[in-house]
Amino acid sequence: MRLLFTGGAGFIGSNFIRYILQKRPSYEIVNLDALTYAGNLENLQDIESSERYRFTQGRIEDPKTVAEAMKGADAVVHLAAESHVDRSIENATPFLLTNVLGTQILLEAARNGSVRRFLHVSTDEVYGSVGPKGPFTEEDALRPRSPYAASKAAADHLVQAYAVTYEMPVIIARPSNAFGPFQYPEKFIPLLVTNTLEGRPLPIYGDGKNIREWIYVEDVCCALDQLLHEGRPGETYNVGGPGGWSNVEVARLILALLQKPESLVTFVPDRPGHDFWYALDNSKIKRETGWEPTVSLEDGLKRAIVWYEEHRYWWQRIKERLHRESRGYWS
Ligand code: NAD
Repeated sequence: MRLLFTGGAGFIGSNFIRYILQKRPSYEIVNLDALTYAGNLENLQDIESSERYRFTQGRIEDPKTVAEAMKGADAVVHLAAESHVDRSIENATPFLLTNVLGTQILLEAARNGSVRRFLHVSTDEVYGSVGPKGPFTEEDALRPRSPYAASKAAADHLVQAYAVTYEMPVIIARPSNAFGPFQYPEKFIPLLVTNTLEGRPLPIYGDGKNIREWIYVEDVCCALDQLLHEGRPGETYNVGGPGGWSNVEVARLILALLQKPESLVTFVPDRPGHDFWYALDNSKIKRETGWEPTVSLEDGLKRAIVWYEEHRYWWQRIKERLHRESRGYWS
């Protein structure tokens, strides 16, 4: 089986490529990635010499590059995206180009090839904020509230339209907030962990009560693998983490695990349009594949903390760059 990955040099992509190469010894992977600020070949250093892995640099909005990369692919795992909500609020254009146009170019190339599965990785954010009805099921309407979420929702609609119009064997996965090794340190958990390791304040938007369902990246990889092999074509699956935590609870847990004072928590002005609560109903994926999350937030944080402690060289250079660019809460 030959898989075309997009965005494999990013956080989830690099973890999932490693997972597949270990779990499925006969599989070959081509990784198409533009190496934006979020893509990093160091994330894949340990497997770059594998005969079953090949990297190709290019953008998914470029039809020629995509057609070339698609040659011989049996399945597509589509992860490439502009993925940071704060950046989408500053400038939505790259989000539309990559997440919407890029997805369409990829679908078009897959349609013209011999692809038997197209796994599109979406997000829980397409549903918007949870209301009184509780966790979202796959049947709920999409009500995205940030430019990032809107671009991902548009991509989901395109994927579903291609499934109907061209009978393409697509599967959509909607994971909740993931964390773990190789996550770019502008994202919430790596920002908090690395700031704690540096003795810096932990910036928390608003009153810190916003709730997210954190899922450890290994659980995400396991779910994506199950969906790639057992998901029903044309279907969408929520991939939610084990329970919801408010942002300030997560910050306090990280500080407790690293034995640092709670006084490092610093409340900062809220993000515009900040969704209050994300929560997913996982019953469909559980019922159809048997998957469920296995790593608690606390155990995942312990593992992530060890990784960030042991890979200071990896994140310190990135944080220095973000600091030079005056991005986020770096000074
Ligand atoms: P990431 O930002 O870490 O990685 C994105 C990767 O895509 C990078 O390697 C980047 O170089 C590449 N890329 C960006 N634009 C590209 C383009 N035009 N052409 C080719 N490659 C391009 O993202 P991530 O956190 O690993 O997320 C992966 C996917 O999972 C995304 O689609 C995201 O929307 C989705 N997702 C992420 C989370 C999460 O918590 N991280 C949760 C739910 C869904």
